[in-house]
Amino acid sequence: MRSYLKVLIISMLGLILFIPSALADNAVKRVGGSNRYGTAAALSKQVYSTASTAVVVGGGSYADAISAAPMAYQKNAPLLYTNKDNLSAETKTRLKELKTKTVIIVGGTPAVSANTANQIKALGISVKRISGSNRYDTAAKVAMEMPAASKAVIANGFLYADAIAAIPYAAMNGYPILFTNQTDINSATAGAIKSKGIKSSIVAGGTGSINASVFNKLPSPKRISGSNRYELAANLVQQLNLPTGNVFVSNGFGYADSIAGAALAAKKKQSIILTNGSNLSKETRVIIGRKKLSSFTIIGNTPAVSSNVANQLKNPVSGKTILIDPGHGDQDSGSIGNGILEKDVNLDIGKRLNTKLNASGALPVMTRSNDTFYSLQERVNKGATAGADLFISVHGNANDATSANGTETYYDETYQAAASKRLAEQIQPKVVNALSTRDRGVKTAPFYVIKYSKMPSVLVETAFITNPSDASKLKQASYKEKTAAAINDGIVSYYK
Ligand SMILES: [Zn+2]
Repeated sequence: MRSYLKVLIISMLGLILFIPSALADNAVKRVGGSNRYGTAAALSKQVYSTASTAVVVGGGSYADAISAAPMAYQKNAPLLYTNKDNLSAETKTRLKELKTKTVIIVGGTPAVSANTANQIKALGISVKRISGSNRYDTAAKVAMEMPAASKAVIANGFLYADAIAAIPYAAMNGYPILFTNQTDINSATAGAIKSKGIKSSIVAGGTGSINASVFNKLPSPKRISGSNRYELAANLVQQLNLPTGNVFVSNGFGYADSIAGAALAAKKKQSIILTNGSNLSKETRVIIGRKKLSSFTIIGNTPAVSSNVANQLKNPVSGKTILIDPGHGDQDSGSIGNGILEKDVNLDIGKRLNTKLNASGALPVMTRSNDTFYSLQERVNKGATAGADLFISVHGNANDATSANGTETYYDETYQAAASKRLAEQIQPKVVNALSTRDRGVKTAPFYVIKYSKMPSVLVETAFITNPSDASKLKQASYKEKTAAAINDGIVSYYK
């Protein structure tokens, strides 16, 4: 009986210990189909069980889709795609499931053919088409189908990525999205601005998208730009103050998924950001860190958004700026012994840690990435300038007695004492395990870089340069790799 109770208690304890760590990953969900039609259908299932009206656009017509998305929102209609010449099977199935009575096709017959429209009609659905003589005109006509609004979003009609993150903003507020090109306001766009009585405008994109001359002709324009599509999307979310409780994430080069995802983000009162499909983009990491985003919905299956990106989003270190400080450098060798210089070992481990944190989704910054000397104050300044969330100084230990050996991690109590201690406690046992060294424990000491860095900070003494056994490990790439992995894992578990 007693042993039974013991097992029960241990397994309950295991459950209790297991749950918090599982919950501490960021929440990541994925919605996708086998192609753009399937993905749009799958997205519509997230909110619509039925829809009397649906909006259908050509799967290759991004401009039509962008202008249609805010209107679809206003009409409480899902946004679906079709193949140009034939109604796509996924869309046909979905229209039946939704018990749709009216389909609004946005775009002319070059985008959605008359045959496709007839196939929709054959389902007993009435079809209405909104189309103009070009993309500007179609967007203008869509705008006239929307409720009265005094503001519009303006984007270059030939650059699909610019407007995507503005779609939820336009949709939720009932603002139309109108197009220009880089150097001209099309007459259809000018006409829509006039007839709708637009008094102010949000311009999505830099001068490479819409130049200053066009910008200045728009009503009370405000420009939001970025150095690339990822930063532009992040800036739109940030500057338009869009909700970020559960952010949608899509491939910035996959317009169909991104636009349909943006339409759903609007419906869910959320926002959308973009990423490279294989690796979380730097600018995306920045907004994740800055806005402390921790819940995501990925739009599209692999390979549109890879499982690597999904794992990076899940990792709570995602978007965190981690300062890596490899101790010493140049004329300052640090400890010397057993044929190695501490500065070289620190740099080697630091570079490996940099690679691992990058792969984890963080934004690592190194105080030095080569054999350069920086003063301790310069190192502290680099952490402050980077706005680092954590400061990790990497060192090797030394003692006159060559018998002294083992691993220890230091923190200082001047700033962020509790957090620094917790960080040290996460890193220390993992480094001990990686190097199979003696555990000298977590300690406090007023080392300059951890005393004056205001963020949680630790100084890891990986092992003794002066001890033959410790040094033999620090000479080997495999141990340095394991040490870097251990520090990375310690940082990740600190955030869990
Ligand atoms: Zn040192």
